[in-house]
Amino acid sequence: MIMIPNYKRNRQDRYRQDPHAKRTDGAPETAPVSKKTVPSVLIGILVLAGILVLCILASRQRQKTPAPAGEYAFRVRYLDVGNADATLIACDGHYMLIDGGYADSSDKIYTVLQDEGAETIDYLVCTHGHADHCGGLAAAFHAAEVGTVLAPVREDPENYHFTRFAVQTEKAGLAITVPEPGSEYTLGSARFTVLGPLTTDVEDLNDTSLVIKITYGETSFLFCGDATRVEESSLLDAGTDLKADVLKAGHHGAGASTSYRWLYEVDPAYTVISCGKGNEYGHPHESMLSRVRDQGSELYRTDLQGDITAESDGQTIVFTVEKNPDADVFAPGDSFQ
Ligand SMILES: [Zn+2]
Repeated sequence: MIMIPNYKRNRQDRYRQDPHAKRTDGAPETAPVSKKTVPSVLIGILVLAGILVLCILASRQRQKTPAPAGEYAFRVRYLDVGNADATLIACDGHYMLIDGGYADSSDKIYTVLQDEGAETIDYLVCTHGHADHCGGLAAAFHAAEVGTVLAPVREDPENYHFTRFAVQTEKAGLAITVPEPGSEYTLGSARFTVLGPLTTDVEDLNDTSLVIKITYGETSFLFCGDATRVEESSLLDAGTDLKADVLKAGHHGAGASTSYRWLYEVDPAYTVISCGKGNEYGHPHESMLSRVRDQGSELYRTDLQGDITAESDGQTIVFTVEKNPDADVFAPGDSFQ
């Protein structure tokens, strides 16, 4: 595991920084040096060195020492399940699984839950009925005791993948709960709110995705399944409080998701894309990456960096990646095909 300490940044300071600022101390570049001027030059150098040392000491005092990875009470694991979604959230010994990847990720889901020692999954969330989200979810029924199952619908007879998940849920002796937007739940000392979907005239199954914001202390994380700009607009137009420190980008970084309006309203310090290397859709799309670059959040990608973990103590967020901490995260998906 490779640890990348990050700090919840003071955004105003971030925007105030000017990387192109030049020195403007007015000193001539090649002043003649006479014997008389040497002592004053030496004194000047010593004074500057002293100021530099004081600055370094002051900046070290300002920095917080992050706790080592694995020591925070709240943890989000964006699992690398190819061009699909699966996120495990842990808080105070309570667990929530949002999506489970394709059916062929069932082994991974099962193993991760076993390794975590998760005996109970408080919430199992199927954001929507596509195979890359609900296909591997049933592994959780075999790995742990599942509490509440959340999905945007109880049944969808036309949809083989969702119907399979609904049958597996029933076999586990559970019923699907369809949460109303605004529904609130607790996960240990964290809490989450179901914000959407709000779109009523849905043409794309992706826009039925459950949109969830989870808050721990002063830190927050937003999940939106495969919502496109249609559902994004519905939430924006409704005046929903979307602000979050970490955004899981919609629809694996597709060009039709993560609109400018959405990005600037969520205003994340970090964005995570769950996508598969060399996927046939070219996720993440160049236009989406360009919007994230313009917005300025730090970007993480499962296709390049494997499992990505974000931990919070309620104030500070620390990211850990499985591999490639210095990957070129702004390279479009189709550049790997
Ligand atoms: Zn998807």
